Amino acid sequence: LLPHTTAEVSRILQACHQAGLPVAIQGGLTGLAGGANPRGGELVLSLARLSSIEEIDSLGGTVVVQAGVTLQQLQDRLSPLGWQFPLDLGARASCHLGGNAATNAGGTRVLRFGMMRESILGLEVVLAAGTILTMLNQVIKNNAGPNLNHLFIGAEGTLGVITRLSLKLVPLPQSSCTCLCALPSFQAAATLLREARRHLPALTTFEVMWDGYFTRAAESLSLRRPFAEHHALYALVELLGMDEAGMRSELEGFLGKMMDAGILQDALIPDSLSQAKHLWEIREAASELMPGMRPFIAFDVSVPLSDMGTLVEQLTALLECNHAGKQHHFFGHLGDGNLHLLTGPYPDARQMDEVKRLVYEAVGRVGGSISAETGIGSAKKPYLYLSRSPAEIELMRTLKLTLDPKGILNRGRIVD
Ligand SMILES: Cc1cc2nc3c(=O)[nH]c(=O)nc-3n(C[C@H](O)[C@H](O)[C@H](O)COP(=O)(O)OP(=O)(O)OC[C@H]3O[C@@H](n4cnc5c(N)ncnc54)[C@H](O)[C@@H]3O)c2cc1C
Repeated sequence: LLPHTTAEVSRILQACHQAGLPVAIQGGLTGLAGGANPRGGELVLSLARLSSIEEIDSLGGTVVVQAGVTLQQLQDRLSPLGWQFPLDLGARASCHLGGNAATNAGGTRVLRFGMMRESILGLEVVLAAGTILTMLNQVIKNNAGPNLNHLFIGAEGTLGVITRLSLKLVPLPQSSCTCLCALPSFQAAATLLREARRHLPALTTFEVMWDGYFTRAAESLSLRRPFAEHHALYALVELLGMDEAGMRSELEGFLGKMMDAGILQDALIPDSLSQAKHLWEIREAASELMPGMRPFIAFDVSVPLSDMGTLVEQLTALLECNHAGKQHHFFGHLGDGNLHLLTGPYPDARQMDEVKRLVYEAVGRVGGSISAETGIGSAKKPYLYLSRSPAEIELMRTLKLTLDPKGILNRGRIVD
């Protein structure tokens, strides 16, 4: 069903609740945890037609949108007004803002602006039995009791259907300054990040790619390698601000110092926007690598920064020893301790389970999270216990039972 209004969503859920009919909620269908995939007997509720940008407060820097507006549509509408919504991710053209809230999306600017949660002022949510909960707060400060919006952010549609959002904007940066750094080791990348945080106030993005990923990504896009030699890792660093010349000279000075200190082996500041775009294409090329790796596993885990380098070494050794002949590519949002691993092909389902257990258990051992930003859905449900305690999982069940007693919304996702 493709409702046009919140009232229609409410009537649909009322009917489903009465009939005990399970509902699969769909946004832009870019989610990576399988939450929006319908299962047998489920009615599919898509938010695609709730697609209007309702209100822009260009004085206060807030906006009210319906859940089916895509991230790209919002950005395109805001930039002529001098505002920006700070979230950014590779699926921007298709993902919905409602889906971004339901998954608490992260992306490439979390280091500076936080995850989706930090940009949400309020939500309108329809509960399982059809009750409309209007919490479209537009003020920054509101401590009138607990903030109920947070119940629904990151709940992946298991507690309610998000129909409208009130969002906080930031002034549109007038310029960006990008550079690609070649690094000898993970330790050097972590040190570069620490120093960049201290010395570059406009630092917005710090993405890392291990050499295997970087090389395959450039090849798959038929791009010339930016550096002739291979290096252990590459960091894509971006500053956003208002003063291009000032930012560039700050960045050049910083890179020079890092080079003298032996932290950096090489660095490239693109001369043109198109060169900068190519660097971003390499970072966002994961989907170009996927076809040759199917059936693959895409991991999205969080680990303490101090453990990340060793974890990648251990996983590489284990995977190469136990699963020779596969590809294993590491990359991620280093500034947020978020590591992505793309590995495959695994035509054998048993082997796939073995790899998942191996990786998730290793992440659990260092106190990391089995889902940094893409959620649990159905894909990661069997491993939730590695990141959350029994008491936490029990509380998730209690909330589900309270808000959705018949279990109709995204049944069987996150918890049973
Ligand atoms: C190329 C690519 C790059 C990506 N990069 C990132 C990244 O950097 N960071 C990141 O966090 N994610 C990333 N993702 C994953 C994905 O884009 C996000 O999880 C996104 O927030 C999902 O939004 P969606 O509208 O597509 O949701 P869907 O895929 O439709 O749904 C995702 C989940 O949210 C629920 N849901 C959707 N809409 C609603 C709603 N209105 N109310 C209640 N529940 C709802 C669904 O039932 C499902 O459980 C990427 C995906 C791709 C394909």
